[in-house]
Parts: sequence; structure tokens; C-alpha cells
Amino acid sequence: MKFVRRGLILCCLMGLLAGLTGCSKEPEKIEPQGKAYFSYFDTVSYVYSYAGDSAERFESRSAEVADILKEYHQLFDIYHEYSGINNLCTVNRLAGGDPIKVDERLISFLKYALDLHEKTNGEMNILLGPVLSIWHDYRTEGLDDPTSARLPTQAELFSAAQHTDISLLEIDEQNSTVRLADPQASIDVGALGKGYATEKAAQHLATQDANGYVLNIGGNIRIIGTKPDGSGWVTGVRDPKNPSESFAANVLLKDISCVTSGSYERFYTVAGKQYHHIIDKDTLWPAEQFASLTVFTKDSGLADALSTALFCMSYEDGTSLTEEIPGVDVLWVFHDGEIRYTPGLADKFVD
Ligand code: ADP
Ligand code: MG
Repeated sequence: MKFVRRGLILCCLMGLLAGLTGCSKEPEKIEPQGKAYFSYFDTVSYVYSYAGDSAERFESRSAEVADILKEYHQLFDIYHEYSGINNLCTVNRLAGGDPIKVDERLISFLKYALDLHEKTNGEMNILLGPVLSIWHDYRTEGLDDPTSARLPTQAELFSAAQHTDISLLEIDEQNSTVRLADPQASIDVGALGKGYATEKAAQHLATQDANGYVLNIGGNIRIIGTKPDGSGWVTGVRDPKNPSESFAANVLLKDISCVTSGSYERFYTVAGKQYHHIIDKDTLWPAEQFASLTVFTKDSGLADALSTALFCMSYEDGTSLTEEIPGVDVLWVFHDGEIRYTPGLADKFVD
């Protein structure tokens, strides 16, 4: 049931499928030659091939993608531990204790997350775990029993926020260890883990010359190359007012990622008002500026992290930040339906 709900609200999937099935005005429609799906990161993922691979080749390539996603899913999981590995759940459980030996892939990822914390002026903070888990629990309770849905108090949010300073994350690269310096600190990589894993899978495919693959990892789209004729894919950005049926924009994309953060994606309702899952570090409440925001850039991890960070920033600050990072375009959808976008998107829109 969870998967079905997530499936309906995924960012760009609908648009991509519309492109593939001819619901939008794509000039040339080619059915994918291969299609596979699997469930990691609490969501449904798809691999499509337009590469002209044999069935065996497609099967082995999509199995490799699944393996990569599975590995990262296990490393990033904060709710379960797996035998033989220390993952983020282990790091959180042992917070305040000794340094913990972890896989070097986890070290690289955490360094990447620290870098993005700095780049986004702290708006994307993987140490926001204690605050996010409060919202997670209230949301879960409110979805299970909507009549008794409640909001956290400012006092409990504020008290949790005392354990979210990024410096609490200690990384020893040489010894491949990680430590949280406060027993109440915890990591939550919901903002970028899926995108980072998607990028690793995409890079793997690219090194295998797999031109013409599309990954849709829980709505996080990563296009590897182009269609065989050199054209791109029409991808829809959902209309936040009617996300399961209509699109705010359709964009023709090649060799790029497209990641949306939206207030409609995961939320619960208290006294008629919706409270979603992207939390502003300053107010500790859901960020309210936009209905949705979509980032277009090649690196899917960057797209994912920026989608969350920019969602918490004003349009003006977001525009400045975007200008500092080469190869990034953004489309903002405001609550009144107004759409603004960076200049690089101007020639990519299609009807
Ligand atoms: P989704 O992956 O659900 O499509 P996002 O990429 O925007 O959406 O990530 C939202 C998730 O990121 C939340 O569920 C939460 O786990 C985490 N998160 C929310 N706000 C922040 C924040 N300011 N910094 C870091 N992580 C956040
Ligand atoms: Mg994100």
C-alpha cells in the first residue's frame, strides 16, 4: 500500500511514462526495449532501455543496477541493520560511543553530504535526524489515525535541534570510521541518499557504454545518453495541484537528472492544513515558499540534495546559489501556480 501511494506521487515518472506511451506530444515514440523494476529506498524503481540491447544484456545490466541500489539502500538504511555491515542505523544506534568502522563507500558519501551542507549554507543537513524523526513520528501517527493527528510542540522541536550541528559528525577517512559525538544526534539521508545511489548506478551503466537507458528511482529520473536517433525524452514536472493527473511543464531531456521536491509528496493533515516532509532548519517546520521545485543537472545526487535545499530557501537565495553551481537548472512552482525557471531551461520546454 505504501508503495502504491508513493508510486502515485512520484515526481517525474508520470511525465516520463506519458512520453513513452504517447500521451504527450513527443515527436517520435519508441517503446522501451527493456523494462525492469524493483523496490529499494522505500519506493519503486524502474530501469528502461532504448539501447537496442539483447534481452540477456538488458537483464544483466538491470540486475547490476539493482545490485548497486541494494548495496546503497543497505548502507543508508536508518531503520534496519544487516548482517556483516555497519550502516547508518548502526552509526545512529551507537551515537556518542566509539568510532565505528564502516565501508569506504559510506565514508565517501558522508563526505559528499558534508560538502553539500556547506554549499547549501546548511539548508541540507543530514544531521537534522532528531528533528526529522519527530516529524516522521507525528506524520505516521496522523496518517494511521487522521482524526487524532497532532503537531509537535515548538519546545520539543527546539530541544531536538540542539543535537543537529554538523560538526557532531566525525569522519576518520584513514581508519574508515565514523562517529556521532552526541548520543542524541542522528543521521537522516532522505534528502540525497536515493539520488546519490541513482548516480552510482548511472555511472556504472555509462562506463558500460549503455547509451539510451533511463532510471526512474522513486521519481528521481536519471537519463543516460539519448535515444538511438540522438533525441531526448519528454519528462513531465507534475502539477502540484493535481500531481497524479496533470503537469506544470514538459521538458525534453537528454543525459541528465531531473529531481522534484514537492509539498504534495509526503504530508499529513492537522485541522485542515497539510504538513509535509521537507523541514526548514531555521523554523524547524515544513518549508512554505513553494508548491514544488525541480532540479535538472547531470549528477543525480546533486539534483536530489539541491531539490531539498532549494525548497527551504527563498527564490532569490536559490537563484544566487544555482548561479554558483555550473550545469544546474531549476524550475520553481509557487502555490498560486506561478512558474519561474533558470535561463538554461528556456529552450527545453515542449507542449
Ligand atoms: P523525497 O526523497 O521524499 O522525494 P526530498 O528529496 O526532498 O524528497 O527529501 C525529503 C527527505 O529529506 C525527508 O523525508 C527527510 O528525510 C529529509 N529532509 C527533510 N528536510 C531536510 C533538510 N532540511 N535537510 C536534510 N534532510 C531533510
Ligand atoms: Mg532531495
